[in-house]
Amino acid sequence: MADPKGFMTTPRRDWPRRPVEERVRDWHEVYVPGALLPIIGKQADRCMDCGIPFCHDACPLGNLIPEWNDLVSRDDWRAAADRLHATNNFPEFTGRLCPAPCEAGCVLAINQPAVTIKNVEVAIADKAWESGFAPPQPPDRLSGRTVAVVGSGPAGLAAAQQLTRAGHTVAVYEKDDRLGGLMRYGIPEFKMEKRHLDRRLEQMRAEGTKFRTSTAVGRDVGAVELRSRYDAVVVATGATAWRELSVPGRELAGVVQAMEYLPLANRVREGDLETSPMSAAGRHVVIVGGGDTGADCLGTAVREGAASVTQLDIYAQPGADRDEEIEPWPTYPKIYRMSAAHEEARDLRTAPAADVDARLFAASTLRFEGDASGCVRSLHLVEVDAARSPLPGSERTLPADLVLLALGFSGPDRGDGLIDQLGLAMEPRGTITRDASFATNVPGVFAAGDAARGQSLIVWAIAEGRAVAAAVDSYLTGSSQLPAPIGPYDRPMAV
Ligand SMILES: Cc1cc2nc3c(=O)[nH]c(=O)nc-3n(C[C@H](O)[C@H](O)[C@H](O)COP(=O)(O)OP(=O)(O)OC[C@H]3O[C@@H](n4cnc5c(N)ncnc54)[C@H](O)[C@@H]3O)c2cc1C
Ligand code: SF4
Repeated sequence: MADPKGFMTTPRRDWPRRPVEERVRDWHEVYVPGALLPIIGKQADRCMDCGIPFCHDACPLGNLIPEWNDLVSRDDWRAAADRLHATNNFPEFTGRLCPAPCEAGCVLAINQPAVTIKNVEVAIADKAWESGFAPPQPPDRLSGRTVAVVGSGPAGLAAAQQLTRAGHTVAVYEKDDRLGGLMRYGIPEFKMEKRHLDRRLEQMRAEGTKFRTSTAVGRDVGAVELRSRYDAVVVATGATAWRELSVPGRELAGVVQAMEYLPLANRVREGDLETSPMSAAGRHVVIVGGGDTGADCLGTAVREGAASVTQLDIYAQPGADRDEEIEPWPTYPKIYRMSAAHEEARDLRTAPAADVDARLFAASTLRFEGDASGCVRSLHLVEVDAARSPLPGSERTLPADLVLLALGFSGPDRGDGLIDQLGLAMEPRGTITRDASFATNVPGVFAAGDAARGQSLIVWAIAEGRAVAAAVDSYLTGSSQLPAPIGPYDRPMAV
């Protein structure tokens, strides 16, 4: 703690976002380039170096937050990068994408704005790359053991990097044509430019990790055959089986899943397509689902030039402050948050039916109606109470040429056959069963990430990848020095 009074003398300042009118005309990240470094040292000074740093506990990676806050405030970027990478393989991803449960748990947040932990993290991560503090770390010697990792999302990549650095020969199998899982084709470019992902993948290649893209295990290569070819297999296939909305008119053209829509927009950015065949340009868009996937659809539709965009959330509008009774500090509260996409919707008035930004709360979809050619034209909704019972007389109709369903995911997609071919035991809620050491019921097969935890966050997926790597290393060699930040049954801090 370079300045013991920093938290009293310096107000919180976040990395400023670019003006809305400017950023919606491109797909670059929403923040002002170069505007973070000049402010971040003073922001890191706000950290109180708490005796019991709750920020640290609120992060599943156990990030050494007070340590790197201190190093940044002292301008020691190399040491800060070392401490950051000691617990997180991919801080440039979490620094951009994490909802920051650490900040909700920051002791300062009891009665003041929290330390800008996420901004400090991304500043260190970017500085590390610019300054050459993140070189490839190939192993000194090889163990002679082989591991197949199925899935190249953050869980699979973290597991692969840990196991490669520990000396095992690792191949990552990915059914998509490019690597990165939901960070590649789900999360839009304006939240994280893919160059960050590509740079990290280059580092992994230089360390010796092998990648096999366009290879669906279960379809292009048999899962049992894969198991027989490797000493261990890690299943990190994500939870991409989407939830459906069974209301009349669901079959109309133009009613699609968010994860049918977002990948096409991302493919335009990758240069695969001139324009998206599902582009929102000139269309009235309604997003059904109030979560982050819905917000990603919102920002994408705005950039594609939609005529209007409205987002429906079945839950009541949350308050601006945490409810101390239900979600006391240091838990992560459900409050009214203004993401960059919501800020854009607010300033551009994309939703004539909404008061503040694009969101209509306590809104339940009743049905869709279409035209003679079978294309959706409107969405009928009703306001509901906390028990989701309709409020009489509250029915209304929104124009809708494109409806995006963003209702979450129920578990891993079984369509490729991997789960059934291996005979993996499953939980009643649809995720892969595993024991306390991340092992499935099939010897030598481990499960990690959303496939086993259920729909979660990148920071949890990285923690899963690191922990499963330690378990696999132990299985292969009898013991492991690799860190295991979480157990398979750990959950976010709650009351
Ligand atoms: C639109 C969207 C936006 C999100 N935004 C955020 C955010 O801003 N911040 C955040 O923290 N979290 C966010 N999340 C959640 C986060 O992306 C996930 O929790 C995380 O990616 C899970 O990582 P994973 O490695 O377990 O799985 P995934 O990222 O889903 O990766 C699994 C990979 O396995 C591959 N695969 C599946 N089956 C096979 C097979 N049979 N053979 C070969 N490969 C296979 C898939 O193609 C995929 O690439 C978002 C999710 C979505 C859908
Ligand atoms: S809880 Fe907040 S103030 Fe305390 S050590 Fe962590 S970041 Fe610093």
